[in-house]
Amino acid sequence: MKKILLIVMCLCLVACAKTKEEDTEAPELKLKSSRVRVGLNSDIDYLAFIDKAIDEVDGELIDEVKYNEIDVSKVGQSIVTYTLKDQADNETAQKLIVDVVEYYDGGIFSPLDVEADTVESADDVTVLINKMHQIPKGWTPDDLEPVLDNPSQMLRKEANEAYTRFYNDAKSKGIVLYSISGYRTNDLQTKYWNNMVKVYGEEYASQYSAYPGRSEHQLGLAMDVSYKTTGDRLSESVAQSDIGKFIVSDGYKYGFILRYPQDKVAITNYGYEPWHIRYVGVDLATQLHEQGITLEEYYND
Ligand SMILES: [Zn+2]
Repeated sequence: MKKILLIVMCLCLVACAKTKEEDTEAPELKLKSSRVRVGLNSDIDYLAFIDKAIDEVDGELIDEVKYNEIDVSKVGQSIVTYTLKDQADNETAQKLIVDVVEYYDGGIFSPLDVEADTVESADDVTVLINKMHQIPKGWTPDDLEPVLDNPSQMLRKEANEAYTRFYNDAKSKGIVLYSISGYRTNDLQTKYWNNMVKVYGEEYASQYSAYPGRSEHQLGLAMDVSYKTTGDRLSESVAQSDIGKFIVSDGYKYGFILRYPQDKVAITNYGYEPWHIRYVGVDLATQLHEQGITLEEYYND
């Protein structure tokens, strides 16, 4: 019995332990994501972006990772190249895109600080559009319909059908919703953004308006909902109203999420908007509601 055990152990040692000379495989270097944001003039912990730095012969190699440092004194995009060599000189490299942005209060930054990438499928009702991800140039939805409570505002067919059920069920509970702003063309969004910047400045606009091409309203899946009264209807008072409460408690059952919640400002990079609902479909809306997460967290983006 002992003999057999010894033989098995020897075999294992021969099979498992490669020597330095036999190591022809590069170590594994994996980043947590391919693109990150850092604040202007902030201290960067470069190693914190690494998920794995390991070699099958040398083991854990995080201390051996080399990288270039970037200039954080100005806003813009830089590349950090990480390289890792094992003892047998096998080398591997990974690139990380770093956006240096100037953070305003609450962790919001200007869309002008970053270059957005373009999403592949703007037709997908679960698509993520934000300051980092834009709608393809010239894309427009082809199934827009006027909403029942305000024919001057439109949503895509699937979102509109959901909105109609949402509206009617709210009404049966004595809550009267009013659609203020739904689908917007790129031209209209450009007008809104420019006007907001002109009147309130870039910092304020970065909180409450989206840069053209990066607005969910251009998807035909977002609606600003409030009361049908005059005056400032898009204010935080909506949150305390029956409308605001119904959005939070029941919106997901129809496929709508409150897209910019109060406690997620640093994640969505937009100010609190208790009036802005986004259609993502019942399955995803339910999942986000149950987990208490935003689209950004869902996509880990
Ligand atoms: Zn909105």
